[in-house]
Amino acid sequence: MVRPVAGFDRLGEENAFAVLARAAELTAQGRDVINLGIGQPDFRTPDHIVEAAVRALRDGKHGYTDATGIPELREAVAAHVAGSTGVTVPADRVMIMPGGKVTMFAAIMMFGEPGVDILYPDPGFPIYKSMIDFTGARAIPVPIREENNFAFAAEELLSLMTPNTRLVILNSPANPTGGVAPRGEINRLVAGLLDHPYAAVLSDEIYDRMLYDGAEHISLLSFPEIRNRVILLNGWSKAYAMTGWRLGWSIWPTALVDRVRRLAVNAWSCVNAPAQYAGIAALEGPQDSMTRMVEEFDRRRQVTVDLLNGLPGVSCLLPRGAFYTFPNISGTGWSAKPLASALLERAGVALIGGPDFGELGEGYLRVSYANSEENIRQALGRVSEFLTEHRAAAH
Ligand code: PLP
Repeated sequence: MVRPVAGFDRLGEENAFAVLARAAELTAQGRDVINLGIGQPDFRTPDHIVEAAVRALRDGKHGYTDATGIPELREAVAAHVAGSTGVTVPADRVMIMPGGKVTMFAAIMMFGEPGVDILYPDPGFPIYKSMIDFTGARAIPVPIREENNFAFAAEELLSLMTPNTRLVILNSPANPTGGVAPRGEINRLVAGLLDHPYAAVLSDEIYDRMLYDGAEHISLLSFPEIRNRVILLNGWSKAYAMTGWRLGWSIWPTALVDRVRRLAVNAWSCVNAPAQYAGIAALEGPQDSMTRMVEEFDRRRQVTVDLLNGLPGVSCLLPRGAFYTFPNISGTGWSAKPLASALLERAGVALIGGPDFGELGEGYLRVSYANSEENIRQALGRVSEFLTEHRAAAH
């Protein structure tokens, strides 16, 4: 028998992909499935971005690039960060990555090892814990609670930190809850972090443009007192409907830039060259497609939450970020995963059980509104019928 290292047995999954695959399988069998499990915009990448990639290929820009990204794109990201956060970041701290997720991978690989602790949000994006487990570090969940509007509570987070804490992972606006961390909690957290000078912060801000009801995004980068240990994760996937392009960016503290560059050289050499030219067009070109997309998400968000609150045994907060709702289903009598599975197999609605985002996700479902209003209405109509019929027979 071959003997891969034990870390691979600890690697987890992103169940959204399994649900996507099962939904596709059912559709191929002729079943009518509506997917509210999806974590990507249902919009096309704007034409001028696509054109920039095509032009790059036609112009012969198809070779390797610098492992850190093409200089024009790193400059464009630095200018964008200056505009969106007010923080001047030299372009040499910008890394162009093959997707937002790869920054997560790099940061957790850089800080995770047996004997250290890494804090991560629960419920949260499942890859955080998966990668922490892979490295052998101890994964310490930071509870993300409905009563805090699905934002972390700084005091509770800080109480979980010890001298062994090497990395704290934050995500706002958040997947799967749509929660947005308020300024007060962030200020308290930053103040508390000064007592833990060896803890780095990975701030996943990939949904930073998807905000509603006047919610403000506060980048962790905007605090000079911790700037030398904040890794900022962001990218094009969500804001520009570019999930399949595999293009992301991150800002690294000066002391870590060369480490991540070497990881890139060892693992992926560089990011797909035409995608990088598309990335420039996205940041520097017209932003109206994104604005329209966010406006449309806002409309659907309200429709989705209204419909969810009309379901028997379900209550749902109005989230202020990303494109997810996280309804509380504890009044239905169902556990989340059996309900998600029954809804997919028997009602033709794909959504994700809260426990796929961590233990504290029990009692919740993730319902994405990255689908048309018509589909959302139809899908939640099916869920309503199903719950009405099966409430008595709940598991
Ligand atoms: N971070 C969060 C919180 C996400 O939800 C996702 C994607 O779903 C990512 C990062 C990864 O984005 P990308 O597709 O650019 O790798």
